[in-house]
Amino acid sequence: MHELERVREQLAPIAAQLGRALIAVDFDGTLAPIVQRPEDAVALPDAVAALRDLAPRVSCLAVITGRPVEFVAHQLTLDTQPFPVVLRGAYGREHWQNGDVRQPPPPDEVRAAAADLAALLATAPAGVLLEDKGSGVAVHTRQAVDPAGALGLLDEPVRAVAARHGLHVEPGRYVLEVRPFGIDKGTALLDLVREHQPQAVLFVGDDLGDLAAFEVVEQLRERGLAGVTVCAGSAEVPTLAERADLVVDGPAGVAVLLSELVRLAAG
Ligand SMILES: [Mg+2]
Repeated sequence: MHELERVREQLAPIAAQLGRALIAVDFDGTLAPIVQRPEDAVALPDAVAALRDLAPRVSCLAVITGRPVEFVAHQLTLDTQPFPVVLRGAYGREHWQNGDVRQPPPPDEVRAAAADLAALLATAPAGVLLEDKGSGVAVHTRQAVDPAGALGLLDEPVRAVAARHGLHVEPGRYVLEVRPFGIDKGTALLDLVREHQPQAVLFVGDDLGDLAAFEVVEQLRERGLAGVTVCAGSAEVPTLAERADLVVDGPAGVAVLLSELVRLAAG
């Protein structure tokens, strides 16, 4: 089947009740291509334009990400050209809506773990980076000469630091994220479902951290809601692609998918 036809077929149950739908998308690897340095990530203009078109037509449009909400708000040009989208950052810990920000201070144990990880990385392979995400801390190996080798080398010591501070480790695309237990994209999505009571839910992600949200969509589907999971595909994360209802070609494919949703709903 032609790719666009497959996209349309999978989106049909969502498009049929778009006004009652909750559409949630991840940021990195989903709206913005993965880059060497996380601070250089930029959302694809086509993806932002598609979100802007979609926002007024749905019950709730949300971006659920591990990033701080203010970074994503700026990326989506919400500071200059706002549109109705809610942001859940730091895996749901941070909230952004209409410019109002709820950003609880970083947990003490995360700050302590960040200091230990900084010390650990002093002896790590060149190119390994520490990203302070406020509510969590991430160790990136993408810029190392051997990213997979560096990730393997750091896996155990990073887990030991996390365990010492009672924190959880989430592996991702050449990254190990250390953050509190019980905070993930699944709980963030579920909070939005409780708030908006949608009839249909679409979630788009690209990495292992998105699996928790996929599970929530699958559970909602068992309860009779229309639910669709989409993977912004890459060769790096076959596990998520296998689990998804639909795989599209990275952020560019996501932009097409979101535009197609608007087109389908318009008939
Ligand atoms: Mg991602």
